[in-house]
Amino acid sequence: MSAQTVVTRIAPSPTGYMHIGTARTALFNYLYARRFGGKFLIRVEDTDRERSTQGAVDAIFEGMAWLGLAADEEPVFQHTRADRHRAVVDEMLQRGGAYRCWMTVEELEAERTVARAEGRAVRSPWRDSTLPPPDAPFVVRLKAPREGQTVLHDVVKGDIVFENSQLDDLILLRSDGAPTYNLAVVADDHDMGVTHVIRGDDHVSNGARQSLIYQALGWDLPVFAHIPLIHGPDGAKLSKRHGAQAVGEFAEMGYLPEATRNYLARLGWGHGDDELFSDEQAIAWFDIKDVVSSPARLDWDKLAHINRHYIRLADDRRLADLIIPRLLGFDALQTSRLIAVIGLVKDGAATLVELANLVAFALTATDAPLDAKTAGLLTDETKARLGRLRDTLAATDDWSVPALEALIRDFAAAEQVGIGKFGPALRGSLGKGSPAPDLASTLVTFGKDEALARLAFAVKP
Ligand code: GLU
Repeated sequence: MSAQTVVTRIAPSPTGYMHIGTARTALFNYLYARRFGGKFLIRVEDTDRERSTQGAVDAIFEGMAWLGLAADEEPVFQHTRADRHRAVVDEMLQRGGAYRCWMTVEELEAERTVARAEGRAVRSPWRDSTLPPPDAPFVVRLKAPREGQTVLHDVVKGDIVFENSQLDDLILLRSDGAPTYNLAVVADDHDMGVTHVIRGDDHVSNGARQSLIYQALGWDLPVFAHIPLIHGPDGAKLSKRHGAQAVGEFAEMGYLPEATRNYLARLGWGHGDDELFSDEQAIAWFDIKDVVSSPARLDWDKLAHINRHYIRLADDRRLADLIIPRLLGFDALQTSRLIAVIGLVKDGAATLVELANLVAFALTATDAPLDAKTAGLLTDETKARLGRLRDTLAATDDWSVPALEALIRDFAAAEQVGIGKFGPALRGSLGKGSPAPDLASTLVTFGKDEALARLAFAVKP
């Protein structure tokens, strides 16, 4: 590779949400730029002014921020560059790489019919015409080669060959003076200094057309890497019925951004059998050359496994901040108890949704009514037993998990019953029927005063 600095970019179109495939493309571009000490840029392809609402643009930046993929420069908004795009078209006209075409809608229709019958692309009579230009609206077309082949050299897919007879003279500028998509992409990538175009393989044929535009302008081509799309677990194109497609949905389902990054990095790329790796490792290892050319399948179990790992690693206070919005009626006064309980239960959570369920028991009010199951367990005999347990607990000063485990064992022995005789009622009395961890941990979660208060509430006649 030359000494030229690597510049990559993500160029999302604002569609209202950020697709998980766009997120992975962004990640690959980001990793590649970091790996080679280059720059990662973002361009919002908002030329379609109808679709590009502020909300749709915000969704892109929110997705990127959530993923933790910061661009190295201010974003470029494609629609602001229309004048430059037109100037590029002028340059192509001057170089003889483009021409004005005055075909009418009817003429174009007729030519389409003939072209289809002859198995070739549409040709314009204006390409080599010496007729005086009519005083009428025109489009500008690329003067594409008619013979031979156009070969797109792709790092992931190898050489992709297009017969020039099948490539039409692409419109660069519409009759209303609006630049077209492929022209805008080439002008922008060139001006942004993009050296590597890494994007979804739904852009392969655009890649061939864009190569021709680069050539017509005498510009250096970037390296192209078209990565296979993400498919659902069943191998079909990822869609709503697979559970989620938008980055925001993954966040909503309780996946951590670092877990999502780790998981996405492994979709279509990998480092041996390594399943879990840090951002630093991904940067050190990533190469676009190692991306596989067949589509990757989303695997929810793998994602859950990876997420579980990152929840375990995550700081408890951060996890608390992340789940508080999911905890209905959360009272800020309970924050320290929440943080403590997260430390106790987080190993059991594969998502933040699960974590929120696992901590719920600790956040119930002292005098919240007991659930029906616990109420049913609290017979007079059990109430009397829990009352005696409460007295024993009140008398201890060692409120630690091992001490309380021993205390409960000794109490059961003294009562000549198994722990199963009162354990479920005790757990239900403390956590009001929400799933709670083992008894000693549950007692520690509440602390002595609160645990005794809950027991008093449960055993009162
Ligand atoms: N705007 C295109 C998209 O969202 C990407 C174009 C490109 O990366 O060149 O699919």
